[in-house]
Amino acid sequence: MSTMWNDKAPVAAAPSAAAFDAWRVRADFPALRQTVRGRPLIYLDNAASTHKPKVVIDTVARFYSEEYSNVHRGVHYLSQLATDLYEDARRTAQQFLNARREEEIVFVRGTTEAINLVAQTFGRSKLGPGDEIIVSAIEHHANIVPWQMICREKGATLRVIPIDEHGELILDAFEPMLSERTKLVSIVHVSNALGTVNPVKEIIEIAHRHGVPVLVDGAQSVQHMPVDVQELDCDFFALSGHKIYGPTGIGVLYGKKALLDDMPPYQGGGDMILSVSFERTVYNDVPFKFEAGTPNIAGAIGLAAALKYFRSLDIAAIAAHENELLEYATRKLEAIDALRIIGTATHKASVISFTLCAVHPHDIGTILDQHGIAVRAGHHCAQPVMQHFGIPATARASFSFYNTMEDVDALAHGIESVLEVFT
Ligand code: PMP
Repeated sequence: MSTMWNDKAPVAAAPSAAAFDAWRVRADFPALRQTVRGRPLIYLDNAASTHKPKVVIDTVARFYSEEYSNVHRGVHYLSQLATDLYEDARRTAQQFLNARREEEIVFVRGTTEAINLVAQTFGRSKLGPGDEIIVSAIEHHANIVPWQMICREKGATLRVIPIDEHGELILDAFEPMLSERTKLVSIVHVSNALGTVNPVKEIIEIAHRHGVPVLVDGAQSVQHMPVDVQELDCDFFALSGHKIYGPTGIGVLYGKKALLDDMPPYQGGGDMILSVSFERTVYNDVPFKFEAGTPNIAGAIGLAAALKYFRSLDIAAIAAHENELLEYATRKLEAIDALRIIGTATHKASVISFTLCAVHPHDIGTILDQHGIAVRAGHHCAQPVMQHFGIPATARASFSFYNTMEDVDALAHGIESVLEVFT
């Protein structure tokens, strides 16, 4: 049996979780009402990006039509209003993650930029020849390449926690990898390619026993489960707004204040300074030290609207519903002889990667598209995962709370049509 939960309270299994009415929440999402290729859209590409509820679209539209100005440097009404909205958005993100202080919330473009920021600042200042960073074998490229780049520059080594045939971390291999050379563990919370939910709390506890800080890539977790950074005790946490029903181009890097204070700035420019002269420049405090230039103001405000919308729903019921979708889809897809599910961890989020005998995943995606079904086909920016399973690519269906059992039926039916074309 799959469950949505791992190191948190097993909310998905809680009998108190009220039934979730996916049909009702679908009404909040204008994009889901459309037809594509003459068929009602069945959107199963949520791990790549989620659609936006009307409240997010309206919030961004209102900001540009009535509240817009640049932030932080103006004395006029609109500049103060925009600044208040932007800083309110930071507090919303702080509450959402239960960060201790609002200064611990840095607005970035998304998870990719958050990890690059940590690699280029924390990594650049802490790493030396022979030092090590630890990641896992199921990382997104965004949590591999920034570390490869800084390790190459500093003569450090990237080490990899191995996975088994289910796509689960081999945890026993992890602790022996930690040593005084280890400067950071950077680990994905939920794998986008396989759906595996990593036991991040346990990983953090182990790493901390050895005095090693941990970054959690939460790009695929915050939209499925409550995340409390104090309870996890992670040192950094990264998320992307567009995957949690918010706008593109905005995300959050959470970092413990003491660590952020200690890190040099990432980019130089306006807003990240207190004073500049040709003799001496004094940097601003966190989080502004890491937010050079005009930020994505509308994005931050739209993200806050998305986080509030998500929080207004019953997250336990969402988790139970998504888990039902996962279990139902797993049963239906397993019944198709030619189909192989890639990623069979005990604890999975609502993501199913699969291959279909000799049919290339791009052909699966193209034929499903003719039925109005949106799935993703490719390596999902996780080529080491594909290498582990000895395949070039998979097709991936990923479910949101707005998906229904009927969407799963349509997917299974669509896959049968793919097989008919190829047999
Ligand atoms: N990590 C994971 C696990 C992801 O799924 C993604 C996006 N697919 C990223 C990082 C990168 O996120 P973004 O492209 O929004 O920066």
